[in-house]
Amino acid sequence: MFTLDLAGKTGLVLGVANHRSLAWAIAQQLHAAGARLAFAYAGERLKDKVEALTSTMDGALLFACDVTRDEEIERLFARAGETLGHLDYLVHSVAFANKEDLEGDFINTTRSGFHLAMDISAYSLVRCVKEALPLMEKNGGSVVTLTYNASQRVVPSYNVMGSAKAALEHEVRQLAYELGPKNVRINAISAGPVNTLSARGIHGFLDMLQVARDKAPLRRSIEPSEVGTAALFLLSGMSSGITGEILYVDAGYNIMGT
Ligand code: NAP
Repeated sequence: MFTLDLAGKTGLVLGVANHRSLAWAIAQQLHAAGARLAFAYAGERLKDKVEALTSTMDGALLFACDVTRDEEIERLFARAGETLGHLDYLVHSVAFANKEDLEGDFINTTRSGFHLAMDISAYSLVRCVKEALPLMEKNGGSVVTLTYNASQRVVPSYNVMGSAKAALEHEVRQLAYELGPKNVRINAISAGPVNTLSARGIHGFLDMLQVARDKAPLRRSIEPSEVGTAALFLLSGMSSGITGEILYVDAGYNIMGT
């Protein structure tokens, strides 16, 4: 069996809300491989939950960071730099849209709802990567973000989040181009539907899950751990020649025509 030894490596993970979060599945893989991790949670109400989840991870650090606030992002990376010294890995697993913008017709999306979804789900990646870069420049680094195929195809109810994911995927390519000369890679995982807190906010999500199960070549939905192992691959040196890519972890669903 091939095992990955990430001892001495450090990672910052944004987006753990609970044990179902895809960020948590990724963190578990990084931890099992020996990386030291810091976690950023959205606000104080999540602190106890993230503290309890990470209590068994030796040396895990916890910071609060609302990604709509530049000063909180700056403070997060400053504190990560002070405590970890450098950063090898950044996991961006953050998204949000108003519930009313994830049901009904996309044409009714308000200006403020559009801005909010774009700000949290797309722009935050750019700002986080900007702050991470000084911590990665010496040894190089790797960034992973999470996307969904509604960036490319129409998924009813996904609405404004589809726009945000299309922007996010473009950012991955643009940032890959700019970060490449600094030996920093960035890739996205396009995950199939997984029953998480955010996903449950999408109208008709359970139907989406069933359609994916019925139509995917593997005839099942994916496990969060499969996103975790794919992220481990993209973050580690095993994928050293890969940047700017969108890797589908969706049991093959995206290849289907109908
Ligand atoms: P999740 O557990 O709810 O994670 C989403 C995270 O985003 C939560 O920790 C949430 O914190 C955080 N967040 C929202 N607004 C924030 C803000 N202003 N500042 C900082 N953090 C904020 O759901 P998930 O499904 O694992 O989602 C993770 C990523 O995977 C998202 O980008 C999502 O679009 C993507 N994805 C999910 C699926 C799926 O089916 N689950 C499929 C493809 C892609 P709060 O709980 O405090 O809001």
